[in-house]
Amino acid sequence: MARLVLKFGGTSVGDVDRIKAAAQRVKRIRDAGNSVAVVVSAMSGATNQLDKWVRDTARIHDPREYDVVASTGEQVTIGLLAIALQDIGVPARSWMGWQIPVRTNDAHASARILDIRGDTLLRHMEQGEVPVIAGFQGVTQAGRVTTLGRGGSDTTAVAIAAAIKADRCDIYTDVDGVYTTDPRIVAKARKLDKITYEEMLEMASLGAKVLQTRSVEMAMNHRVRVQVLSSFNDAPGTLVVDEDEIVEKEIVSGIAYSRDEAKITLRKVPDRPGVAATVFGKLAEADINVDMIVQNTSQDSTYTDITFTVKRTDSDRALMVLQSVKSAVGFAELDSDPRVAKVSVIGVGMRSHAGVAQRMFAALGSRGINIQVISTSEIKVSVLIDEEYTELALRSLHSAYGLDAA
Ligand code: ADP
Ligand code: ASP
Ligand code: MG
Repeated sequence: MARLVLKFGGTSVGDVDRIKAAAQRVKRIRDAGNSVAVVVSAMSGATNQLDKWVRDTARIHDPREYDVVASTGEQVTIGLLAIALQDIGVPARSWMGWQIPVRTNDAHASARILDIRGDTLLRHMEQGEVPVIAGFQGVTQAGRVTTLGRGGSDTTAVAIAAAIKADRCDIYTDVDGVYTTDPRIVAKARKLDKITYEEMLEMASLGAKVLQTRSVEMAMNHRVRVQVLSSFNDAPGTLVVDEDEIVEKEIVSGIAYSRDEAKITLRKVPDRPGVAATVFGKLAEADINVDMIVQNTSQDSTYTDITFTVKRTDSDRALMVLQSVKSAVGFAELDSDPRVAKVSVIGVGMRSHAGVAQRMFAALGSRGINIQVISTSEIKVSVLIDEEYTELALRSLHSAYGLDAA
């Protein structure tokens, strides 16, 4: 009836019983007349363990060898799922990234998919076989194994769906859809029936790890229909759709958070042209992404402070780069604070409604939560706060925007 890609995340293949349950689900969907390809992650925790082994061996290491190690978790689960499928009478065959091949660039540990050949997979599917594909991994032009960044199996699944022109890509995970915010933190979070690509892209890039950001980008660009649903029950999931498929647009549809931030402040920076260009130019040269930025003009045009955020894992490197330009830029002090969190409210309805940011500031203010940095775009407002208040902020905002489940 339909051509589907089914992706099972780490918890959904977390042990042999879960793998057998996933096999049963694949069989049911196939028996209903659908043609299916499956993408799997490593067992939950496996990639963390592999990552730790590499770091324990050498904190600074060759990313090409990191990928050789990190990609092995998925090799285990494709083999086991193929065996589990065969065991219940479903013809199945495992596929590593290089066997398809899933071609990527050579940005090891966060490689981008360049192209995927769908014809071989389709030929096998037409013969009634279920391809079981390793997520998260690819191969460079030179034949080296790559990985796609944490959470990358989502991106493999969407890319495979685009390559074989699937009718839909179903992402089976440990929650039954995309919620208004992380349901593990806010008990009153509500499941969304539908969310727009744009909102999902913002939610993912602002910290909601339910889908990897690049998978949403890829779904948007290749018009892949994506559904997020649970591998633990049969509840209806969340569909990611175009804006015109949503009749009633909420002003705010979701709230995301990220603890993966660090705040850096340069104090007493000379207030003259070219200073920001030097500071941020050097960080860019070092491949360090800067996110939120605030700078005030000084009263007497002599000195100012510049505050900005980087990924927490980049913070040590950023400080080193900044120390190296201290005399050229002429700032007096350098501070960093890793105990911050970014909380963001997201919604396409913001484009046509005033007062969204004000409601956010009022809700946080009434709880005594101080806002350190603010940034906005057309469909989101983000604030940086003390990490300690993350949960309180999420719960307060969730109520303030009327998102609480009844
Ligand atoms: P998988 O291993 O299946 O890829 P992940 O752990 O990567 O699963 O993603 C699922 C998790 O995403 C959920 O367990 C949930 O805690 C988290 N999450 C964060 N924000 C949201 C949200 N808005 N809706 C649903 N889940 C969310
Ligand atoms: N196993 C990889 C990870 O843990 C990829 C994924 O699960 O999507 O990041
Ligand atoms: Mg994931």
